Amino acid sequence: MVCMRSCVTRMLAAVILLGASAAVPASARATEGDGEPLVGVVMPRHLQDLKRSHKVRLIYFVPTDREPTANYEQKIIAFTTFVADVFRRDLTAKGYATGGLDFEFAKGRPVVHMVKGDHDAAYYSGAPRHDRLRQWQTVTSEVQGKLGHPERMVYLVFAETYDEGPAEVEWPGAHAQGMYLSADSGIAVVSSWMLRDELCATTVKGQLANLFDSTPVPGRTAMGYRHPNSPRFEFVEDAIGAVVHELGHTLGLPHDNRHALNLMGSGFRFLNRAFMASTPAEHLPRFSEDNARFLSRSRFIAEQFDATDVAAPKFSLSLVTRPKPGDQTVTYEIDATDDRGLGAILYYDQAADTVVGGQELSGTSVKLSVTLAQKPLLAGQQLAIQVKTIDRNGATSWATIQHTVEGPVLSTSGQSPQAPSARP
Ligand SMILES: [Zn+2]
Repeated sequence: MVCMRSCVTRMLAAVILLGASAAVPASARATEGDGEPLVGVVMPRHLQDLKRSHKVRLIYFVPTDREPTANYEQKIIAFTTFVADVFRRDLTAKGYATGGLDFEFAKGRPVVHMVKGDHDAAYYSGAPRHDRLRQWQTVTSEVQGKLGHPERMVYLVFAETYDEGPAEVEWPGAHAQGMYLSADSGIAVVSSWMLRDELCATTVKGQLANLFDSTPVPGRTAMGYRHPNSPRFEFVEDAIGAVVHELGHTLGLPHDNRHALNLMGSGFRFLNRAFMASTPAEHLPRFSEDNARFLSRSRFIAEQFDATDVAAPKFSLSLVTRPKPGDQTVTYEIDATDDRGLGAILYYDQAADTVVGGQELSGTSVKLSVTLAQKPLLAGQQLAIQVKTIDRNGATSWATIQHTVEGPVLSTSGQSPQAPSARP
């Protein structure tokens, strides 16, 4: 299945390359985007200062024993342009009136903060036994120590902490994780292998060429390709897609594996389709309708919201009847209220690690009976459904119900502000 998807991506890329390689000299592809216009591609919109209250802050984190990659500022801006474009175009295609994510600007340019670490790279990554949790904790705590806790900000940290040497995929110590902190803050850390000269251009046009360049990267395996010497564009897709995915987590989105092209599933690996003019809408990587509806209420996405609304929705979650073995549905009852108005709700199956439904909410009080489809239930099987609500002004809350088939309700939590959770 995975191989087949990769093959489809490669086939589509080859069609575009006929145009792209004719237009951009191979020697210029990785660094410069000047020359004839690329054909058959969708040029992402350059980052613009949307002047909203909630911004993404771009951060480049460099340990003491590492040199910053050349032109890191231009590279991060060019790279992020693609990330922002994926958000904006998917949401506007679904009918949400938004300019997408907004970024910190100064003097008319997006700002990239250089943060010099206090330690060497191994201190953060745990090398040679690379440790994801350690990397997450050390980098996020040091960045927040130096720049402060994100307030009305999502921090996107490119960490220069990966290593050379053999790796099953990408580079040793490669990392990508995102965490929702609150309606007003989040943080994501990604490895800066994606800023390497062979994978990241200094211009948007140069990066667009990289996204369709099938030159093998010697000895390296892209996550979406799974074979050594993967084509360059596979790494670029994984990189842009991973950042879109992790930013999705910082904005409160859970995984959604219901469709192969969902960006909060593995659809992020098919990113170059989003920049091919010929891609039919149904073949585009995207946020699911349920995740997009939730996202559209985020304070980092909505064009307008009432910042004085600090109260999160309140709700209770209960089982209507005790499920029996063989049942293919489970029905839950939800009573939700919000002082200023509800926005949307998401249903997430923790065991299957996927969103299983969602809907728009309106008004200040809603009583829902929600029937979720399941594979035929087994005696003693444990079920855990998490429900997330967001109000019309972006405040969120969550509740989880855990129960066993023909057994007791194990736990119910509810009416809490959405809990922070770091997700790869
Ligand atoms: Zn994830």
